[in-house]
Amino acid sequence: MPMPFSVIAETFEKLERVTARTQMLLYLVELFKKTPAEVVDKVVYILQGKLWPDWKGLPELGVGEKLLVKAASIALHISEHQLERLAKRVGDIGKAIEMVKNEQLKKTGGRAPGLLAFMAKPGSAGESTLTVEKVYETLAKIAVAQGEGSRDIKLKLLAGLLAEASPKEAKYIARFVEGRLRLGVGDATIMEALAVVYAGSAAMRSIIERAYNLRADLGMIAKIVTTQGVEALKNIKPEVGIPIRPMLAERLSDPLEILKKLGGRALVEYKYDGERAQIHKKGDKIWIFSRRLENITHMYPDVVKMALENIKAEEAIIEGEIVAIDPETGELRPFQVLMRRRRKHDVHVAMEEIPVAVYLFDTVYVNGEDLTLKPLPYRREKLASIVNENDTWQLAKGTIVSDAEALEKFFLQAIEDGAEGIMAKAIHDKSIYQAGARGWLWIKYKRDYKSEMADTVDLVVIGAFYGKGRRGGKFGTLLMAAYDPESDTFKSVCKVGSGFTDEDLEKLPEMLAPYIRDTKPPRVDSAMKPDVWVEPALVAEIIGAELTLSPIHTCCYGWAKSGAGISIRFPRFIRWRPDKSPEDATTTKELYEMYLRQLRKLEETT
Ligand code: ATP
Repeated sequence: MPMPFSVIAETFEKLERVTARTQMLLYLVELFKKTPAEVVDKVVYILQGKLWPDWKGLPELGVGEKLLVKAASIALHISEHQLERLAKRVGDIGKAIEMVKNEQLKKTGGRAPGLLAFMAKPGSAGESTLTVEKVYETLAKIAVAQGEGSRDIKLKLLAGLLAEASPKEAKYIARFVEGRLRLGVGDATIMEALAVVYAGSAAMRSIIERAYNLRADLGMIAKIVTTQGVEALKNIKPEVGIPIRPMLAERLSDPLEILKKLGGRALVEYKYDGERAQIHKKGDKIWIFSRRLENITHMYPDVVKMALENIKAEEAIIEGEIVAIDPETGELRPFQVLMRRRRKHDVHVAMEEIPVAVYLFDTVYVNGEDLTLKPLPYRREKLASIVNENDTWQLAKGTIVSDAEALEKFFLQAIEDGAEGIMAKAIHDKSIYQAGARGWLWIKYKRDYKSEMADTVDLVVIGAFYGKGRRGGKFGTLLMAAYDPESDTFKSVCKVGSGFTDEDLEKLPEMLAPYIRDTKPPRVDSAMKPDVWVEPALVAEIIGAELTLSPIHTCCYGWAKSGAGISIRFPRFIRWRPDKSPEDATTTKELYEMYLRQLRKLEETT
């Protein structure tokens, strides 16, 4: 039985009216109960606001606002100007299209007006016969139409779709196309709903989550659950070509404490300051995925070549850090230098100007063997056995230590050599690869930024304020948030107005533009009201003098003291982190732990 698209549109309408996660979960459960197995993957992607996982490297819709307005004006038989005026008045194009369609249906007693309406199958008043398959396939065709004549193809397909849709469906199709669904449901809620419907309880989410961590394609995972049951997920292995969600580290800055946490002995490695790369090999094909699982293969033809020449296994997934180096001396260069490569249009020019080296530190899969549940020493040995090493392709520098003095010495050597600090890693029997999780099996110990806060944090922009004086009329301050995975929300931490260069400030309006919203985005939790709200998308690294209690901010509200949250005193912008997605930002729990450590330190010194 084909699934009517109206089921999705109705769910979206309900989701839009609620902000409580429990309620959202109920609506998603209802939706999945009505979703046939054949389309569950597509329904999941649509909920994620996309047509396919980003890492597939397939084209996005490529429909700008102009084209959308034009398509809608053809479908509705009104002028672009009229439609734009209405959109401006009611706030968005989707809503405007819905209103016009409703109006027209009233006038024509249920039949859509205009020539194009004849293309549509007849429906009764305001109802359409659009199916999820049809909408998805048409949108996919719009996305893949590239090159000469593609604009006309996109226009025709979209106009046809909007003509055929009911008013409500058209609203959400338009918003989807614009990339502005704003539903506020994160992956965690989708997984929980799948667990309730297909595995009988929300508690089974952990099985779905582990599978998703090994294969970062939620649509595909949903399909396996619905067609083969949750049992099938238990045996899932990483697969070459599909990124695995990376294992992450906790942070500490006391060598003794680090060793204690890791059980007295640890592998310490240089923490290289570059871009994390997950390198997949199958025969003569190489994929490179970034920390946020984008396919970045095309950006690093030099790394592809190195991987082809130096990975001896037929099939493998290995991890390393790509670092910019000085070609003359081979010395490490900072992260910012590497990021310049992202901005260059011609990768081959960039490759010449900014040469790189790769430092490998892990492997999770070799020739059919899933290594994620094997201890680190086993994985390191495996890694060493399947690669050749040379100047620009080698294992991360590391050694095993069992006393704090040796750890500190290695740390100082790492800094001396241009690394950012060290990664200390557990090497006991249970030192597995925790895909998609931040845990105490890996601990990062970074260079102190000469401040009381031992480490920087990565926060998400959720709002902006207009500046005063020299910065009058322009954005001068950002409202920043930490991520709370429990509630899947972004909670305000502080306002940041310093640390920006003039160039940073100049670029702000353009950077923020796609994410600016009139109302508070659904996943944002902030009592402070900025001049404009910003959809959580951009991550910045922030340092400050110390963590403080604040009655205004919602991060860790009531955790350390009733009536207060945790904030940062004298926060300063350090750099953008385009390699991080908002869900990769520092979590509320991490900030709380940092706060507790700061308190302990204070107690020790007084
Ligand atoms: P940060 O914000 O400190 O750069 P992160 O939040 O991106 O870190 P973490 O898990 O906190 O991720 O720190 C680990 C990161 O350090 C990895 O993502 C990887 O990019 C980098 N790295 C550099 N050298 C190593 C190494 N030897 N082992 C593991 N990770 C390393």
